[in-house]
Amino acid sequence: MIPVATVDIPDSAAMVDLGRRLAGDLRAGDVVLLHGDLGAGKTTLTQGIALGLGIDEPIQSPTFTLVAEYDGHDVAGTPLRLYHLDLYRLGNPDEMDGIGYDQYLLPEDGVTVIEWPERGGNWLPERFWLVRIINLGETGRRVSISRHGRP
Ligand code: ADP
Ligand code: MG
Repeated sequence: MIPVATVDIPDSAAMVDLGRRLAGDLRAGDVVLLHGDLGAGKTTLTQGIALGLGIDEPIQSPTFTLVAEYDGHDVAGTPLRLYHLDLYRLGNPDEMDGIGYDQYLLPEDGVTVIEWPERGGNWLPERFWLVRIINLGETGRRVSISRHGRP
């Protein structure tokens, strides 16, 4: 594990900005696991990542499908898709097979962001970014970002 950073984020605009900056470091095949309670700011951070990938659409947590896909691009203009998974409503980890999750664990043409990854059971991609968000209440959020697995 390589610790990257812990930052305090005062409000949702700053959370969007953090996501935007994080997107600049993402490459095809990257997976970002977002840990944090309901209301921690996972979707807000994902919105920032989307903006950083040139995606203007509002990001809403996918509900019935569990997965939403968006067309984005990196700073050089190379197409980079965003796969946004929210496993909050997953009934049981076996349902992961039903959504064909393995294609999202090493996304060839994009990056995958997963809210509530722990609901997917005991699996992990070969390498991933781990983001932990702690709700500090009105004073904002504490966000820790680290990288894990094969470089
Ligand atoms: P989650 O996806 O983790 O459930 P959301 O991204 O939907 O959480 O955010 C829940 C609420 O918290 C939203 O109203 C959002 O604007 C707000 N929020 C997000 N980040 C922050 C922050 N750093 N400080 C204060 N409020 C925030
Ligand atoms: Mg959410």
